Amino acid sequence: MESVVESSLDSIAAASDKIDCLVIGSGTAGVTTALSLAKQGLSVVILEAGPWVLPQHVGTSPLRSQEEIVPQIHHLVKYGTAWHDSETIENTRGILPSNNNAWSLVGGRTVFWGGCTPRFIESDFADWPFDLAELEPYYERAEEIMHVSGSGGDDRPPFMDSPAQARLLDALNDGGIEARPVPLCVDTGAARNGYIARGFDCSIDRLLRSGRLVQFDGRPGVSLVAEAVATCLYQDGDRISAVTVLDRRRDRKVDLHPRHIVLAGGAIQSTRLAMYSELDTGSPDLGKYIDDHLFVQSVIKLDKPLESAAAYLMVDPTDERRYHVQMQGAFKETWYSPYHATVWLDTEEDGEYFLCYCFGIADNQRDNRLELYRQADPTSGGMRDYHVVYDRSPGDVALLQEMQDFMPKVAELMGGKIHKIQVNKPGAALHEVGGLRMGATRDDGVTDSAGRFWGIRNLSAHDSSIWRGQGTANSYLTITAVALRCSEYLAADLISAG
Ligand SMILES: Cc1cc2nc3c(=O)[nH]c(=O)nc-3n(C[C@H](O)[C@H](O)[C@H](O)COP(=O)(O)OP(=O)(O)OC[C@H]3O[C@@H](n4cnc5c(N)ncnc54)[C@H](O)[C@@H]3O)c2cc1C
Repeated sequence: MESVVESSLDSIAAASDKIDCLVIGSGTAGVTTALSLAKQGLSVVILEAGPWVLPQHVGTSPLRSQEEIVPQIHHLVKYGTAWHDSETIENTRGILPSNNNAWSLVGGRTVFWGGCTPRFIESDFADWPFDLAELEPYYERAEEIMHVSGSGGDDRPPFMDSPAQARLLDALNDGGIEARPVPLCVDTGAARNGYIARGFDCSIDRLLRSGRLVQFDGRPGVSLVAEAVATCLYQDGDRISAVTVLDRRRDRKVDLHPRHIVLAGGAIQSTRLAMYSELDTGSPDLGKYIDDHLFVQSVIKLDKPLESAAAYLMVDPTDERRYHVQMQGAFKETWYSPYHATVWLDTEEDGEYFLCYCFGIADNQRDNRLELYRQADPTSGGMRDYHVVYDRSPGDVALLQEMQDFMPKVAELMGGKIHKIQVNKPGAALHEVGGLRMGATRDDGVTDSAGRFWGIRNLSAHDSSIWRGQGTANSYLTITAVALRCSEYLAADLISAG
């Protein structure tokens, strides 16, 4: 399959000046960017460091219910990462122990994600160079592209109309905690002429279905190379003149010279590559303001079984309540595992337990940052050579307490009690942001409001590395919407430059 769906790095290197845009990373940020540019008649190449494992989301694939195989697929493509507070880092000699995970594969995390897709609210954009109204059309397009269902319309998954869903929504709303069905990114559209529902959104599935995947020869379309790591960007004045790529299959390096480069490796990896390349961006904020959600996880035990197919609801944030809660169930008894992100599909009518994730907004602190070290792992192309320094502020500690205090009220209205609750460590929410933050002016950010690096004309970042903080919302939908917006500006630049 590789020889059919991928392009050879040799053929790309031989004519790399014909690449209008080199996109680094094949997750939702990368594929959304690539498809938007190709639609405008541009030639795009995606480099992906990881291997192929599945051409679609694991929850849509026939392997979904293989409880032993799914974790093994994760093990093929995940690696440990280290997020520690400054005191631990100061007191540790040598390499820091890993305490979180990252994933590297064709499709990125879109192959495994959980499908929960709320939008940001207006106040989440307070410190951004654009507001919610500006992003709204891109949210709409992203929801259409991703086939978000659940929050309204006729395309709700059937369980959203279960008696239990209605009963729990009424109980919460009557009790003064406003709740609604969770917006879910699972395509429930009916089969019709030429159309079969796609299940969970997954970037690689989107690329394969797009009709725009081409073998590279400089014509419009998207070409893909897997197991190819962008290891270094070379800056020559206000341009990137070359990108060195490690071909992991053949253990050799090649240089590419594309017109433009978009970083879409996820917030941490895009930032790491910019730092490793020692880019002169003129900004002291490169690598700073790294963040992730405050994450409280709990299980509610209902007083009696749900007696209904399933329920999945959420309590939105407000300007005052800077966290949201997702409640899914019922199960016999369970706990969150990233290996089972589609757990809400496997509920049990006689279950009594509800899984709850509460995501809150941490204080966006400049000193929470990425630090590089030279471990020089030749096979990863440097992707593992970093740690995150992350300290919680007194405000974070207070908000985490507020989140824990809120959960028993939710449990009581749902007709149950908290059975188990825990505060997860920084980085565990997997919603990381920052490192290449946007700013309306050069003094205020590494990139501009469309993700273009200040002072480097042919380099942009389109993932959550450019965000100036985060709402409570899980990040996938907003990453996709922001990537659409950035791509529109970039396509206009590339087309007008000829
Ligand atoms: C188990 C799980 C459940 C989740 N559930 C949800 C959810 O319900 N809702 C939600 O909104 N979010 C969820 N998330 C988070 C969500 O999946 C991510 O925020 C989102 O997919 C990130 O997209 P991305 O394109 O920025 O990066 P990624 O998906 O991380 O893709 C980046 C890709 O770039 C590649 N790359 C990086 N550096 C290089 C380089 N130098 N050269 C070449 N390639 C490179 C990486 O190998 C990787 O494959 C979940 C994540 C996981 C793991």
